[in-house]
Amino acid sequence: MAVTEPAPVELPPAHEGILRRQALRESAARTYARSLPIVPVRARGMTIEGADGRRYLDCLSGAGTLALGHNHPVVLEAVRKVIDSGAPLHVLDLATPVKDAFTTELFSTLPREFADNARIQFCGPAGTDAVEAAFKLVRAATGRSELLAFTGAYHGMTAGALAASGGATDVRVTRLPFPHRYRCPFGTGGERGADIAAGWTEYLLDDPKSGVPEPAAMILEPVQGEGGVNPAPDSWMRRMREITRERSIALIADEVQTGVGRTGTFWAVEHSGIVPDVMVLSKAIGGSLPLAVIVYRSELDLWQPGAHAGTFRGNQLAMAAGAATLAYVRENRLAERAGTLGARMLAALQALSADHPSIGDVRGRGLMIGIELVDPEAGPPTVTAENGSAPPPDPALATAVQQECLRRGLIVELGGRHGAVVRLLPPLTLTDEQATAVVDRLADALRAAERSPYRRAAAGPTR
Ligand code: PMP
Repeated sequence: MAVTEPAPVELPPAHEGILRRQALRESAARTYARSLPIVPVRARGMTIEGADGRRYLDCLSGAGTLALGHNHPVVLEAVRKVIDSGAPLHVLDLATPVKDAFTTELFSTLPREFADNARIQFCGPAGTDAVEAAFKLVRAATGRSELLAFTGAYHGMTAGALAASGGATDVRVTRLPFPHRYRCPFGTGGERGADIAAGWTEYLLDDPKSGVPEPAAMILEPVQGEGGVNPAPDSWMRRMREITRERSIALIADEVQTGVGRTGTFWAVEHSGIVPDVMVLSKAIGGSLPLAVIVYRSELDLWQPGAHAGTFRGNQLAMAAGAATLAYVRENRLAERAGTLGARMLAALQALSADHPSIGDVRGRGLMIGIELVDPEAGPPTVTAENGSAPPPDPALATAVQQECLRRGLIVELGGRHGAVVRLLPPLTLTDEQATAVVDRLADALRAAERSPYRRAAAGPTR
């Protein structure tokens, strides 16, 4: 699909002032704004135009939100239609035709076996709120309160979600090893590492002296996003489904980042064919506006009215934009496109690693791609990986690459345990030419960063 380049804008002299005022007035906790000093004024498709007149290819896509890129015509049309119709923009969780259409469209995209017997709860408009809702649901349904989550997971920033992501709260979460191809905690990587990880999970759950209380649920990401783009092997996903089913533990699939075609199937659980008990959905389902829901097996629907309330649950414009996005991805088979194009980009980046010892690993699924940067001279390998050894991560190089990318008009995100993984989350609508431009600019940025005197400077803060 051709993406029209936006027309040049008048250069507002305010650009520097806006950035300066932001630095002075906004919180020390701000994140993206620190490493991406851009003032976006226009955007279309994959292109963002800054107030300084510069154009960028956006591989961050609102942290994986913009399945169709910026301001896609079908999204704009859907939003305008609601506004022009005189429909209310905010009615709490009351039924509306817009909501009805969104739910119908969403259910039509979900695995049939799941959707045929599912309920939906509209949550506050952030992924983390939907994660909290999922935890409340499974606790009410099972009468248990403990949770299982995985090393390297990211589920959000509210208390329960933060605890499941490894943050400090008083929520009780047992952290289990996530199979990691490259930095495998068991030193094997691959299927073998995934096997050991699954065995450890089983052992902990069945050992009466393991100290792990009977949990209400296990939450997992089919591909860890913020944790550094770590795809879970399909066989491991199936093992987790068996382990949880056999022990009446609810399986929560957090598809906040992996959903809506991103990984090459509409929902990432489809790769392994598993049917979870709960799915947590946000980001792309709102078509670039804030929206978050959980969809779950109706037998779990045992919580009380108001068990997870909130003022903004089911924003009308987001539901309209979301329904249009879901339909467009489905009708235009963008999941397949993400799979094909993603595989091509992955291969091109893997080829690049032959000339760059600083590329430790290139991995991903569909258009969720990560390049882990390492410093082979920094010391002995930390762990043995599937393909040999994994030298220590190099977050300073990753930061330098991000900055060099920005200079070349490419926005990329960093992630991973040490902030050393360059992440690509382009819109599913990117063209072949744009995909080539992304790889070329990234390769050029890497070459520049490797030569950069800032290479060993302290890496900036990551989320
Ligand atoms: N789950 C996953 C898998 C995520 O990637 C994120 C956000 N990056 C969240 C939950 C939390 O979503 P939000 O930032 O909207 O609260």
